[in-house]
This record gives sequence, C-alpha cells and structure tokens, in this order.
Amino acid sequence: MSNLLAIVGRPNVGKSTLFNRILRQRTAIVDDRPGATRDRHYGTTDWDGKTFTIVDTGGYVPDSNDIFERAIREQAQIAIEEAHAVVFVVDALDGVTPLDEELARILRRSNKKVFLVVNKIDNAQRESSVGQFYPLGFGEPLSISALGGRNIGDFLDAVTSGFSKNGESEDEHDEKLKIAIVGKPNVGKSSIVNALLGRKRNIVTDIPGTTRDSIDTILRYYGEDIILIDTAGLRRRSKIKENVEFYSVLRSLKSIERCDVALLVVDIAEGLDKHDLRVLEEIVMRQKGAILVANKWDLVEKDELTAKAYEGRIKRLLRIYDFVPVVFTSALEKKRIQKLIELAREVNGERKKRIPTAKLNETLRKVIEAKPPASVRGKEIRINYVTQVKVAPPVVAFFSNEPKLIEEKYRRFLEKKVRESFGFRGVPIVLSFRKKN
Ligand code: GDP
Ligand code: GDP
Repeated sequence: MSNLLAIVGRPNVGKSTLFNRILRQRTAIVDDRPGATRDRHYGTTDWDGKTFTIVDTGGYVPDSNDIFERAIREQAQIAIEEAHAVVFVVDALDGVTPLDEELARILRRSNKKVFLVVNKIDNAQRESSVGQFYPLGFGEPLSISALGGRNIGDFLDAVTSGFSKNGESEDEHDEKLKIAIVGKPNVGKSSIVNALLGRKRNIVTDIPGTTRDSIDTILRYYGEDIILIDTAGLRRRSKIKENVEFYSVLRSLKSIERCDVALLVVDIAEGLDKHDLRVLEEIVMRQKGAILVANKWDLVEKDELTAKAYEGRIKRLLRIYDFVPVVFTSALEKKRIQKLIELAREVNGERKKRIPTAKLNETLRKVIEAKPPASVRGKEIRINYVTQVKVAPPVVAFFSNEPKLIEEKYRRFLEKKVRESFGFRGVPIVLSFRKKN
C-alpha cells in the first residue's frame, strides 16, 4: 500500500505553503535534479521512517472562473477516491466559509481518514480561533502555521500515523514481476499495452467510487506470469482538463509505488519535458527500475544515425538519471514492443543483483587509490571497505573515517564507477556512507 496524502481546501488557505514546508527538507537536497522547479505540485518525502507522497490539489486550478468551484469540489472527490488520507486545510483568519462547509460535506461522506488542519495559527493567541471549526465534523482540528512552521512536527506525526513504515509493504512477497506503464495522456500507453496483449481492451470509468486501484493485467510471457499495472486503461471522465491531469498524476504515483519496474512512456515527437522528468524522479525516489519508452518512432524520419542522435539528446536531458535505458518503440507498427518486456526482466534482474564483497573491494580500491576523496579542512578522508548491504533496491555501503565529509561530487563519481564495473542498468542504487575508522 502506498502512502498518498492529498491536500485539499479552497484557495488561499495556505495549501501550497504547507506543501512546500513539508517538502522543504528534501527540496534543498534535490535542487539539481532534473525535475526540480518551484512549480511542482507533488513530491515524495519521509517522516519517522515512513515514505509518503503528497499532492497539492491547489496546483491544479483551472483558469476559468465559471468552473473554478466545480473543479475544486471534483478535486476533493478525486482525492477521496485516490489518496490514503486527506488533509483538509482551512484558514483561521477567514473562519468557516460556505465553500469550506461544502468541501466538509463531501469529505465527511467518505470513509477515508480526513485531517482537519486550521492554518495561520501563527502564535498561541490565535489558538482561540480554532474552536469555530469543530462543527465541520472532523473531531479536534490540528492547528498549524504553515508559514512559520508552528506545530508542523505534531502535524506530520498525526498525518503519517496510519502509514506503514518503509519495507512493510504488503505486495513484497509476490514473486511475479510487476511492470507499471506510466506517462502523460496520448503518448501511447494503451496502445503499448494492447500491442503486448495482442488484443484491445478499453476501460473507462465515470462513476465516482467505482474506480478500482488500477487495472492489473496478467501477461503470459514464455511461461512466466508478468503483471502489467496499467494506468492507461483507466480514465476518468471530466470536462475539467486540470482534474484529468490531477487524476492521472495520482494514478501514476500509485502504480509506481506498486511496481518493480516502471515504463515511462513519452511521445518522441514531443520529447521529454519537466513533467516526464518529475515522474522519473518519483520512480527513482522510490527506487524502482526505470525504462524510458520513446514511442511513436514510426513518425520520425530517420536514417541509420537517427536513433543514436535521439538517444544522445535524451541522455543529456536525463543527466543524473542517464542510467535509465531508452527504447524507441512504435505501438502502431508493433516495433520493439516485446523488447520492453525483455528489458524490464533484465532491469528487474539487475535490481536483485548482489556483487560479491571481494569483487567490489578489489575494483573500488583501485578507483579510490587513483582518485581519493579530497581532504577537507586538512583532514584526510579514507574509505576502507565497501560492501553491498541490500538488494532490490541495491544499497552499497562505503565505510570511511569521515563519512560526513565526503562531497556530493565524489559520491556521484563513485556511483559512476560502480555502474561502469557492475552495470545496474535502469536501477537506482543507493550509496550509503558509514563511519568506521
Ligand atoms: P493556497 O492557495 O491554499 O495554496 O494558499 P497559499 O499557500 O498560496 O497561501 C495563501 C496566502 O496565505 C499567502 O499569502 C501565504 O503567504 C499566506 N499563508 C500561508 N500560510 C500561512 C500561515 O501559516 N500564516 C499566515 N499568516 N499566512 C499564511
Ligand atoms: P495513452 O493515452 O497514453 O494511453 O495513448 P493511446 O494509446 O490512447 O494513444 C494515443 C494516440 O496515439 C492514439 O491515437 C494512438 O493511435 C496513437 N499512437 C499510439 N502509439 C502510436 C505509435 O507508436 N505511432 C503512432 N503514429 N501513433 C501512435
């Protein structure tokens, strides 16, 4: 079960301030990641050993005033259906407004956990304004200041209380390979799934509450059962473009959470944009295998050099994620569609690979001797021992006298060297630096 938290509320109550506050810790680290920009609306973080994803519904706001309130109501509905818990934000300075009451009615009807959060309680004096929100019907509200950070720790304790700790996922014992197919609308996800299955299958749902978690299809592949987790097949009917986007983002995040390997599909004619990079970042953050599928290859005019040129361009865009393999497919002409499954199996194998300690040390000792970490403030930094401590996802531990002083640049260098010698194609690996003299 993935931990997905949606923030809902009418405009200007402080949703995006709260969102940024929750992700702040992380944003500082990931600034040079490809997808990092200020206008993000979802992100993954952790609290007390629980990784969770938060989505700011306020990020999906239509331009038009006529559909504004309708869009917000519908977003609340989608959040109820898709998220595991809902944070309902109200504004202490404004008190209870009619739109708050309406959102409360929608949220009360659900059986999802709803946390009522009274924001803008910037100081103790303002606590007295919390009482007016009791009638909304969610028990004792949490009072916070998203701007100032007041009570944010208590807030995070509360909202994550029902989430599972990392590594306690229910699906983990299932041996079958699970492949998620994600990407923006119209890039060809359904067509790829249909081509894989050799038949058409189209499921549209427009009745609230009837959506299933996602459609899992079993693909028989040379006697092996492979599960396709397919966000493509499920579509929500809505006249509101922003809500379709919001819905598809939530679905993708949930599919990614459950998979071993994710196929991120893009339309080669449109290329890779920041939304795609963000989805890729989510895949990497969750340490799932990743494959970039550049679909509609049939539309590209090409000679024998075209694929290499495109691949080079895409790899440059991927930057620190350039370990992700790129496949050019045509769902229309059924080109390289089977290859996706072969590659997904390969990536899954890499994810479970264990490098013998002797081999790791032999290789990396040479690398480190040739280019040791730079000493910091006159302190010599030694790395004495390397071992892979975990598989799926792979974690490689480096034991050092000064693990904290090893710079990001050097960590990246080591990752590159690990990959050069040991592959891990398509697999995010974690380098863990630990203390040992
Ligand atoms: P959203 O539309 O719900 O996402 O609201 P924003 O996060 O954009 O915030 C709306 C306004 O409220 C901004 O001017 C924020 O600076 C302000 N705001 C947000 N949180 C707080 C808070 O805790 N205290 C005070 N005083 N202002 C806040
Ligand atoms: P989804 O929204 O990502 O599931 O995309 P669909 O599978 O519904 O495809 C969107 C459109 O792109 C449809 O009109 C497809 O026929 C078309 N399409 C899908 N794959 C290809 C392809 O490989 N080549 C071309 N030329 N069109 C494609």
